[in-house]
Amino acid sequence: MKNYDVAIVGAGPVGSTFARYAAEKGLKVAIFEKKKEIGVPLQCAGLLGNKIKDVNVLPDEVILNEIYGACLHSPSSTMISMRKKEEPLAYVLDRVAYDKYLAQLAVDKGVELFLNHRAEKIDIETGEIYFKDKKISAEIIVGADGHASIVSETFNNASKYVHASQYLIDAGENAFKEDYFQVYVNSKISPGFLWVIPISEYTARVGLFGDFDYNDLSEILNDFLKNNETLRNAKILKKYHGKIPIYDPKKDIVKNRAILIGDAASQVKPTTSGGLIIGFNCAKIASEVVYEAISSQNIDILKKYQKRYKKMYNTELKMQLKVQDTYKSLDDENLDSVILKLKEKEVGKIVSEYGDLDSQSPLMIKLIKNGVIFSVLPKLLSRKIFGL
Ligand SMILES: Cc1cc2nc3c(=O)[nH]c(=O)nc-3n(C[C@H](O)[C@H](O)[C@H](O)COP(=O)(O)OP(=O)(O)OC[C@H]3O[C@@H](n4cnc5c(N)ncnc54)[C@H](O)[C@@H]3O)c2cc1C
Repeated sequence: MKNYDVAIVGAGPVGSTFARYAAEKGLKVAIFEKKKEIGVPLQCAGLLGNKIKDVNVLPDEVILNEIYGACLHSPSSTMISMRKKEEPLAYVLDRVAYDKYLAQLAVDKGVELFLNHRAEKIDIETGEIYFKDKKISAEIIVGADGHASIVSETFNNASKYVHASQYLIDAGENAFKEDYFQVYVNSKISPGFLWVIPISEYTARVGLFGDFDYNDLSEILNDFLKNNETLRNAKILKKYHGKIPIYDPKKDIVKNRAILIGDAASQVKPTTSGGLIIGFNCAKIASEVVYEAISSQNIDILKKYQKRYKKMYNTELKMQLKVQDTYKSLDDENLDSVILKLKEKEVGKIVSEYGDLDSQSPLMIKLIKNGVIFSVLPKLLSRKIFGL
């Protein structure tokens, strides 16, 4: 007899959300988290598209700011802006509080949460997890243990990732347009980008991700602040860094008695590297498939999870990979020219209507159909990437 129906490794937001869904279905669930305290240190910009409210609970207490608009800045400072009128485009969250909240909700539903429990070895055939001084067993093991997942490593190559660096800054009164976030692109950091996400009119999270180590990222961030008139004298209140997995379409996310969700499954958007909304959606699908596998005592059913994930996300993620390839192949001069042309074509208006932080394919399809992509990208490139 196994100790649990489901044992989850990692009490991040995605693992806790999966745990809650599984417990709500009547399964016996445990989560094992290596840290003593959930959610710390912060490793997130905490920007979530407004779809979050459709895919998970979001209490008002964890919302620090509502964002209605976004500005995109080219290397030589051409700017395109867009704004949603009716509803926020995105929310800025207190991620630490949100992670704790999601874990508590799972516990309230009957999930057993074990802090300070680092999984050291996993047996995906028997369903056993080994800790420093004990071993437990479960019908199904869920790897929700982030970019360096030990569960994933039992049946995948080590995951690839990029580094991210972020500062919390205070730039004084009226430094930020409180309801807009800013994105800065350039070929040095592409396919990464730099963000400024305001928490209030004077504080913001400023960060970037890219294929550099932390020192180089911090240097780029320091230069950005130094060269920005408003932010030059900003006080750096805190520094954070973290790792973001690179989306891998070939990754196996089901094997024997194990499945992967969230960052452990590289479920991040190629364009923005956001992982929460996609992770929450996958946690839901995974919980339904796990429930079916356990109730019918047939672990082969777990394979449905990979199929349902692909069905839900294939088109969107493929499109995002194309957008990422396009961005990667443009030098600064091309980026300036593309952004200037987009501005001349008043693309901000189309983005305001069709833009969505989480599913970018409706916007791209619109831009392809009305010929905008073809007219702003160098011809050879649009042919190579979009077949136009
Ligand atoms: C700087 C930065 C900014 C970001 N900004 C955004 C953003 O604005 N919007 C967005 O949507 N996403 C953002 N992301 C990505 C987002 O943070 C992740 O996609 C999200 O945290 C994934 O959640 P998760 O539960 O899958 O994994 P994680 O949050 O990584 O949680 C994994 C958990 O597993 C635990 N664990 C790991 N190994 C073990 C083990 N062996 N045993 C037990 N426990 C273990 C860890 O301690 C951790 O608690 C950002 C990431 C970074 C680094």
